[in-house]
Amino acid sequence: MFELRDYQQNSINEIYQSIKKGNQSIIVQSPPRTGKTVIMADIARRATSIGNRVLFIVHRKEIVDQVKKTFIEQGVDMDLATIGMVQTITRRINTLDEPKIIFVDEAHHVLAKSYMRILEAFPKALRLLFTATPIRLNGDSFEEVATDLIQGKPITELINKGFLAPVDYYAPVEINTDKLKVKRTGEFDEKSISEAFKPKIYGNAVKTFQKLANGKQAIAYTYNVASAEKLAHEFNSVGISTKAVSGNTPKEERNQIIEAYRNGDIQIVTNAELFTEGLDLPNVDCVIMLRPTQSLSLYLQFAMRSMNPRKDKTAVIIDHVGNVNRFGLPTIDRNWTLKGSKKSNSKQGDSIQGTTTCEYCFGTFYRKADNKCPYCGKEIKIEIQEIETDESVELEKINKTRVERAEQIMKSEINKNIAGKTPADLKNMEEIKAYQKLMNYKPGWVWFYGKKRGFIK
Ligand SMILES: [Zn+2]
Repeated sequence: MFELRDYQQNSINEIYQSIKKGNQSIIVQSPPRTGKTVIMADIARRATSIGNRVLFIVHRKEIVDQVKKTFIEQGVDMDLATIGMVQTITRRINTLDEPKIIFVDEAHHVLAKSYMRILEAFPKALRLLFTATPIRLNGDSFEEVATDLIQGKPITELINKGFLAPVDYYAPVEINTDKLKVKRTGEFDEKSISEAFKPKIYGNAVKTFQKLANGKQAIAYTYNVASAEKLAHEFNSVGISTKAVSGNTPKEERNQIIEAYRNGDIQIVTNAELFTEGLDLPNVDCVIMLRPTQSLSLYLQFAMRSMNPRKDKTAVIIDHVGNVNRFGLPTIDRNWTLKGSKKSNSKQGDSIQGTTTCEYCFGTFYRKADNKCPYCGKEIKIEIQEIETDESVELEKINKTRVERAEQIMKSEINKNIAGKTPADLKNMEEIKAYQKLMNYKPGWVWFYGKKRGFIK
């Protein structure tokens, strides 16, 4: 059994207080890599020790074995615990005994039908909904499934206490993220990523790594299997031992790679899928992001992959795709609410301050009054950028920094309203026009989509 850390014990105390107040469905926010399964296991241990059943719903099959292992280590009575994938449990729902507690892992998915079917089948059960990011891509509120939200400790505090490693964040933007298109699901379209990536990006990723994180063990997240392989090839060609891993990599080979990584014989693993089974690499000190995402959840999980603490360690994150512009630094303190983004100020559940990237060292930070780069000490100049609009329909010169531009976009009332939405959510022509600008769609899309929706006769 693990000794619980003080912040884990705090969360447990807050959960019990919330239950005492009469809450039956509670969202528990807990940052990635801070041991939320241990919290759940401890509650499950207490529940099963007095004969209560528990049900644990996970989003991905790779997690099931991990959770089982933690539950057994924490002394949960496994005869009274059911742990399974959401689809599996939905199918077996009629054969299950009523649980006293339902745990939902990655609960930002909880409003999906499959989850709701399970929750509704056991209306008397206590629901504990765990997530690092209580927010949905479409901005929906959690008020219909929960009556209380318990916030985990701020990441800065966890770093100060040594539970997470501090981070240097670099954002050498080398692709034109303005060209990225968004799919109906709200995530970026793979084809548009491919178009936005110039072939040289991989070579640049290698040079940047050598400059900023040479010698560190790293994991690089790419946007598909082919790009993971291409990047591995580029690293190997300069003598940095690298393997690409995907869901297709045979289990035995995966295990060998992990072992070689542990021994330091492999320095970098490239990977297009965050949850590749069994790919829990030790000693990751650097994360290279070559996959743009619209999901705060995915962003934090990518970034915090590097933040397991070790003595005197500072993790390095190299963000080639501007994810930091959408979400802010991974280490900022975020305020979560049950309300979702439609009623709050931005799609992150908290307003995001624009970051500044130093043009000498790529250090990425929140600007202070002294106007100096905290990484290299150089004076920060206001950069002048010329931004070309999509498809060269017209040239738009914006003499503003990227940061100012992002702020300008977020400040506009109408954009607050449409941030995080899919086109199908837009209510009128004004919103469609604003959406086109926000997403950098072709101007013709406004007419096309307005017509399709029946706003233009
Ligand atoms: Zn600098």
